[in-house]
Amino acid sequence: MTTYLDYNATAPIRPEARDAMIAAMDATGNPSSVHQAGRHARKIMEQARTSVSKIVNAKPSEVVFTSGATEANNLAIQGFVSTGGGVSRVLVGATEHDSVLNAWADSEMVPVDENGLIDLVRLQRMLTDRDWRQCLICVMAVNNETGIVQPIHDVIEIARAAGAVVLCDAVQAAGKLDLSGIQADFISLSAHKFGGPRGIGALIVKNNKELHPLLRGGGQELGKRAGTENVPAIAGFGAVVEAVLKETEFLAQARQLLTELETNLIERSPQSRIIARQVPRVGTTTTIALPGVKAETQVMALDLDGVMVSAGSACSSGKVAASHVLTAMGLPLGVSDCAIRVSLGWESTSRDVAHFIDSYMKMVRRTTIVDVGMGQ
Ligand code: PMP
Repeated sequence: MTTYLDYNATAPIRPEARDAMIAAMDATGNPSSVHQAGRHARKIMEQARTSVSKIVNAKPSEVVFTSGATEANNLAIQGFVSTGGGVSRVLVGATEHDSVLNAWADSEMVPVDENGLIDLVRLQRMLTDRDWRQCLICVMAVNNETGIVQPIHDVIEIARAAGAVVLCDAVQAAGKLDLSGIQADFISLSAHKFGGPRGIGALIVKNNKELHPLLRGGGQELGKRAGTENVPAIAGFGAVVEAVLKETEFLAQARQLLTELETNLIERSPQSRIIARQVPRVGTTTTIALPGVKAETQVMALDLDGVMVSAGSACSSGKVAASHVLTAMGLPLGVSDCAIRVSLGWESTSRDVAHFIDSYMKMVRRTTIVDVGMGQ
């Protein structure tokens, strides 16, 4: 028996996305070709573009398809900064994804408080220094490790007042929160986090913001991203957006499952600690620390039992370090390197939660025995 609880890493593909992709694979044309096969491929792509635009209440012409959110974040940051004539500043939240943190070497960090929420007072203060021509503020909608929901509307208001521009990484919010009111200038999305295919995402470019392309070549994507578009993946992306816009019942169900999971777990393992339990979070993600037991050990023990979770985001290269997100929240070593992330989604069931709790308790018992043994 296996249980997949790592939706924030990538979610199982939804049937709607799979069907749309298979159909699009049979459409041979290059969307830039003018003949009928090309026009057919373009039609598939433009339909998907319209679908994707709806999730953030944008115009279809504001959607730039990319290979994923890593590219979308890099395109927004590097593409925006290179349009600047004077001093450009890039401010990034301390708990942003690496694709934002590493996109610009000279970015300045905006701290978060102990709840993982962006420090709005600090942000405002950082903007009072007007020695810049343009400023890009990068704050995510939902954190990928903790599920914490950032006060993005407040960030946008502060930015507007100061004349700054905002990139909102909405990767972990899409399909989980209503993004239709989001007024950021740039929004990044990734299909595979909510049931679409891997390797396709989008940067939404609002308010006619100028952007230099990272990839130069043909004039695809309105000159913002050269290269023949991945039509099957784009079709899958469009289909998954339509699916999540229609059907959101799973969200209430996931929230209930997650609450059950947290309550049960703390009752049975009081030494464990739910991170940001009282902070506004999406109902699909929880981070659980087992102080003193390395996250890597926990992930491997659970995996041996068929339960798949992850150790924060640091496992991207297979190596697990202390989470930069938990460190930024002021959590010490012993906690920040001892936390696992459990993330649910559209296919999660109470059986999954029961399997997780069972395996977790086995792991706790094993690690406790080791601890006692070592203490003697
Ligand atoms: N931002 C966030 C918040 C993410 O969780 C991820 C994926 N881990 C990314 C960006 C990068 O997305 P992609 O996998 O599409 O490159």
